[in-house]
Amino acid sequence: MFICPKKYSNQTNMHVFFHSFICVNVFWCVHYFDGYSGGGVMAYSESQSDHGASIVESSETAPKRKKLVVLGTGWAGTSFLKNLDGSLYDVQVVSPRNYFSFTPLLPSVTCGTVEARSIVEPIRKIIKNKTGEIRFWEAECFKIDPVNKKVHCQANAGTNLNGNGEFVVDYDYLVIAMGARTNTFNTPGVVEHCHFLKEVEDAQKIRKSVIESLEKANLPNLSEEERKRNLQFVIVGGGPTGIEFAAELHDFLSEDVSKLYPNIHDLVRITVIQAGEHILSMFDKRITSFAEQKFKRDGIEVKTGYRVTNVSDKTITMMDRSKTATDLPYGMAVWSTGIGTRPVIRSFMEQIGQADRRALATDEWMRVQGLDNVYALGDCATIHQRKVMEDISAIFSVADKDNSGTLTVKEIQDVLGDICERYPQVELYLKSRAMGDLVDLLNDAQGDEKKKDKELSIEEFKNALAQVDSQVKFLPATAQVAAQQGEYLAKCFNRMKECEAKPEGPLRMRGAGRHQFHPFRYKHFGSFAPLGGEQTAAELPGDWISIGHSSQWLWYSVYASKQVSWRTRALVISDWTRRFIFGRDSSGI
Ligand SMILES: Cc1cc2nc3c(=O)[nH]c(=O)nc-3n(C[C@H](O)[C@H](O)[C@H](O)COP(=O)(O)OP(=O)(O)OC[C@H]3O[C@@H](n4cnc5c(N)ncnc54)[C@H](O)[C@@H]3O)c2cc1C
Repeated sequence: MFICPKKYSNQTNMHVFFHSFICVNVFWCVHYFDGYSGGGVMAYSESQSDHGASIVESSETAPKRKKLVVLGTGWAGTSFLKNLDGSLYDVQVVSPRNYFSFTPLLPSVTCGTVEARSIVEPIRKIIKNKTGEIRFWEAECFKIDPVNKKVHCQANAGTNLNGNGEFVVDYDYLVIAMGARTNTFNTPGVVEHCHFLKEVEDAQKIRKSVIESLEKANLPNLSEEERKRNLQFVIVGGGPTGIEFAAELHDFLSEDVSKLYPNIHDLVRITVIQAGEHILSMFDKRITSFAEQKFKRDGIEVKTGYRVTNVSDKTITMMDRSKTATDLPYGMAVWSTGIGTRPVIRSFMEQIGQADRRALATDEWMRVQGLDNVYALGDCATIHQRKVMEDISAIFSVADKDNSGTLTVKEIQDVLGDICERYPQVELYLKSRAMGDLVDLLNDAQGDEKKKDKELSIEEFKNALAQVDSQVKFLPATAQVAAQQGEYLAKCFNRMKECEAKPEGPLRMRGAGRHQFHPFRYKHFGSFAPLGGEQTAAELPGDWISIGHSSQWLWYSVYASKQVSWRTRALVISDWTRRFIFGRDSSGI
C-alpha cells in the first residue's frame, strides 16, 4: 500500500519507490565513503599516577597537536571518526567494545535472519585507513573530570601496577558519544529476568533463549500448563524495537519452527504489552492502525493501556488504568521501553549542574552547556535549542542598526537569514502557517496589510514572534540523528582553524561578530517499521506513507546501502539470500 500527499498523487508507486531509493541510497553512500588523508609523526609513553592508574601520554614531534579524546564507538562516535581528519589532532578513542554495530538489524539477529558478525565492523579497521594514527583503548570510561581535563578509564585486563586496569587520559577536546542504556523505570525484577535488546550480545542471548524455551516446552512429562508458560513470549514496549522483534519472532516461529516442533506449535503465544493507547505511536496513525490489524491477523496479542509493575522468574504482573493487576505466566520476556541515562553520564551531569535533566544538554553546536571544549552527541545528549523569546531584546538591537528604537521592514529583512539559521523554529513556524517570510508574519500579527510601510516598536516585534517557540523540536534518539551529528561535528573539527579566522555561522545575537560554525541542522530521511511477513511500513519525508511489500524492498535496499563497509554489506545480503532459500537456523548455539 502506498499513500502519498495529494500534490504527488499523479505519480506512480514505482516512480516514488525509485525516487526514495535513490535519495536514501545516495545519502548513505556519500555519508559513509567520505575519506580524508594526511600524516603525522609521534611517540607515546606511559607513566603511573599516585593511585597506580596509568596516565596515557603522548610526546609528539613538532608541530604539537591538540589532544582529542572520543568516548564511544557507536553511531555517533564512528561517524565522527570516519569524517574526522585524523592528521589534525592527537586522537584517542575509548570504548568497551572494539567494534561498531549496525543496531537497526539487531532484531534480525535475534532469530537468525542475519548473523551477528554480519552487522559488526572492527573499529580498528575503520580507523586504520584514517590518517594520523588514531589510538584505540578497549576500556570503559567511569569518570569525566572536566576541571583537570581528564577521563578515567578501566579496562577488563589488569594493566597497571595495582592490576585494576585503570588508566587516565588527558584531553584538550572531549567528544562524548556513549549512547544510552535501556530504561527499566526501576521496575522490580526486570534486570534479573528480562532480556534487553541493545547490544549484539543481547540479540545473541535472545536467540538462544527462544530455542531453549521451545526445547523445554517439548520435553516429556511436562504439564500442559508448564508447556504453555514456556511458550508464552512477552515483549514489553510497543515502540519500533519491540514491534520489530515481535514481528521477527512471529515469522521465525511460523515459517521455520512450526515444522520442527509440530507437537507444541499450536501452544506458542506472543504478547506485546504497551502502556500507551497504541503501538508505534511515534508513527503516522495509518501505520499504527495497519500494524495493529496485521498483528491481530497474525495472532500476536497486543495489550495496550497496561503498565508492568513487577517481573518474577515465571510471572509478569501488569496493571491497567483502573489499577487492576493481572498476572501473565511467561517463558521468555524482552524489555524494550525506551532509553535511560548511563551512570557515568548521570554522575557527570551531577558534577556540572545538569542533574535535573534526562540527557546531557548541549547547545546547537554540540558543546556541553557551561563547559569549554567538551562536546556530546547521539543518544547521551540533547540539543537545547535557544528560544527566540529569551533573546528577543538582543535580536531587536542587532536588527536596529541605526539605533532608532524601531525596526523598518528592510532592517528586519537584512537579518532574517541569520534569525532563521540561529532559531530554526522561526522558519518552521512560517512554513506551518504557509507564510513566505517574516514580513507576512508581521502583517498577520498586526492584521494590517500595509504594515510593511510602517516601523515596528519592540512590543510589536515581540507580539509578532510570540508564538514561534511553540515550534521548537527535540530530536529523536535514533541512529540517523547520531550519525548526522557525528559527521557535522567532525567537519567542524576539520575546519576549526579556518573558521576561527573566518567565522561562517549566523550573527551573534548576544555579543559581537558571527558564530564560528553554522549550527547543526538535522535532515530527516524517513523511518521504517518492519512488520513481518515481508511487509514494512515506511514514513518518508514530505508526508509519504508506504506500507506493504514494496516498502519491504525499499527497506532491504536502504539497509544494504547503509552498511558501514562492503564486507558487512556483502554478508548481510548473503544472509538474506540464505534465509530466502534455506530458512533460519534453529540450532541452540
Ligand atoms: C534494537 C535497536 C534497533 C534500532 N533501530 C534503529 C533504526 O532502525 N533506525 C534508527 O535511526 N535508529 C535505530 N536504533 C537507535 C540507534 O541504535 C541509536 O539511536 C544509536 O545507536 C545512538 O547512537 P550513539 O552513538 O549515541 O550510541 P550507541 O550507538 O549506543 O553507541 C554508544 C557507544 O558508547 C560506548 N560506551 C558505552 N559505555 C561507555 C563508557 N562507559 N565509556 C566509553 N564508551 C562507552 C558503547 O560501547 C558504544 O560504542 C535502534 C536501536 C536498537 C537498540
